[in-house]
Amino acid sequence: MSKRTQRKSMGYIKKDYIRTRTMPGSWYLSSYRFKFNITHFKPFQDKLKERKLVGLQCSSCNRVFFPPRLICGKCFVKPDRWVDLRETGRVATFTITYLKDLETGEVSERPVVLVQQDGSDTTYTAQLSPDVDYKDTYIGMPVKVHWAEEPTGGLMDIQFYDLVEDNSKDLELRKD
Ligand SMILES: [Zn+2]
Repeated sequence: MSKRTQRKSMGYIKKDYIRTRTMPGSWYLSSYRFKFNITHFKPFQDKLKERKLVGLQCSSCNRVFFPPRLICGKCFVKPDRWVDLRETGRVATFTITYLKDLETGEVSERPVVLVQQDGSDTTYTAQLSPDVDYKDTYIGMPVKVHWAEEPTGGLMDIQFYDLVEDNSKDLELRKD
């Protein structure tokens, strides 16, 4: 089998480039130092310590990110506007996890939810209150932040989400 047909049989054809010059060189990856700068998120952390929520808004597309993001994936710019958010939100989607107790063999079901904070355009993974039966979880379920005893300025300050009573009512239809 020739080299060319061998490439073809792998499902793609690689273009042959004419090699003009070869330069010897090494790339010492271990000598690089990467720093993840989080000073950008300081206002977010400071507000969490006060049990307040803020989102970061992109001034190009006006989307609000919660938790804040360094770069807007749509516009490739730095979101730079902090906006106040409410403590309430909604379950955007959820899944049920099954945890087996290794000692007793007992299996417990817990919902893991994606919460969309009111006023934000993004979602993030969170826990529901242990009081909530997993069977009662539904998409669109209104929830509210349950703060940790002593906030430290991290996302863990949101211990879990409590249920908020859904005050929407079914419309009464005319019967005539
Ligand atoms: Zn944007």
